[in-house]
Amino acid sequence: MRNKEMLLIPGPTPVVDSIYDALAEETRSHTDPRFTAIYKSAIEKTKEMLKTDGEVFVISGSGTLAMEMALVNTVQAGEKILIISQGFFGDRFIKIAEAFGIEAEVLQAEWGKQVNPSDVEEKLAEGNFKAVTITHADTSTGVVADLDVLVPLIKKHGALVILDGVCATAAIEEDMGKSYGEEDAKIDVILTGSQKAIGVPPGIAIVAFNKTALAAREQIKRVPAYYCDVNNWIPIMQDPSKYFATPAVNLIYAYEEGMKLVLAEGMENRYKRHAAFGKAVRSALAEYGMKALAEEEVAAATLSCILYPEGINDTEFRAALAKKGLVVAGALAHLAGKAFRIGHMGNTTEEMLETAVALIGETLVEQGLDVSTEKALARFKEFSLAKA
Ligand SMILES: *Cc1c(COP(=O)(O)O)cnc(C)c1O
Repeated sequence: MRNKEMLLIPGPTPVVDSIYDALAEETRSHTDPRFTAIYKSAIEKTKEMLKTDGEVFVISGSGTLAMEMALVNTVQAGEKILIISQGFFGDRFIKIAEAFGIEAEVLQAEWGKQVNPSDVEEKLAEGNFKAVTITHADTSTGVVADLDVLVPLIKKHGALVILDGVCATAAIEEDMGKSYGEEDAKIDVILTGSQKAIGVPPGIAIVAFNKTALAAREQIKRVPAYYCDVNNWIPIMQDPSKYFATPAVNLIYAYEEGMKLVLAEGMENRYKRHAAFGKAVRSALAEYGMKALAEEEVAAATLSCILYPEGINDTEFRAALAKKGLVVAGALAHLAGKAFRIGHMGNTTEEMLETAVALIGETLVEQGLDVSTEKALARFKEFSLAKA
């Protein structure tokens, strides 16, 4: 790999050489058939990954644009949504709703925990929610949402399910063809970004709408957006040689290559690999006395929020790791300084994570802790993919 550093943050994630090569291909006209064929392939592969019978939108932007696109095309000003929040990114929907005059009620989990399904049930029974947002893996806490419980509950009450998959899509099961209990209890909208579990540089926003979500768009007379009105993009997604706004040509090359890698590995294999990565990293770090914020049953496969043991200074710890070529992220909000976040997703390899465990151990020893790197590596191997 061409990378000089290991970028193990919850996105962007390590980029492999074939994706860099794609990115560096000659920039062509966005209407050149050689480009539009690649764009078409990127769209088709995205549909295949999410198994949707609706439309996918692959456009320039970050995950936040994808969140906005999901919301403004399904819910109007004055209508109400329920936000199931398991941390910082769940809360982001509050701000987006506010910006568009959408009423929002929030069910906030304690950081590190899932929202209680009976609270969701109770809220939904109050009625009149047009949509419910779920953050699949909250990047601030490392907590995963339980779709098997939430999706049927929400559909029973007739609301749309909007799933923020920014830290999950392509790594934790997301299948728009899957029925949760009832025949038509399906995820209606999935949104994500290119730079997390898909492993492509930042810059591509991905949104998928099923037929129910597309019908919701049709009921809205005037969407308070232009660039992210799905109706402006449907003709382009169906025929990428048409023009609405110039696509990020080189990023589309890179994204299409990323999608090839995702599909070549296979979704089931990716779900298994990420689950193994999460367990291996957390159990290895636990050997150092570093506990994950989330209990293992609710911990995300893609990233972990790890609490510091006594006596470790966040800034010094992460600076020492960076000097060794390992970049991890600080924690957000009230956890800042008390925890760090490590990504284990996308094109990250088992070798990289093993090296990371060793470097973290070395650094803890240098900073005065009595820990055993060997024991941690043994734990890592116990849960690693080879054994899964
Ligand atoms: C990173 C992230 C976002 C925001 O994505 P950007 O690409 O930074 O705009 C939203 N939701 C989740 C769950 C994320 O992890």
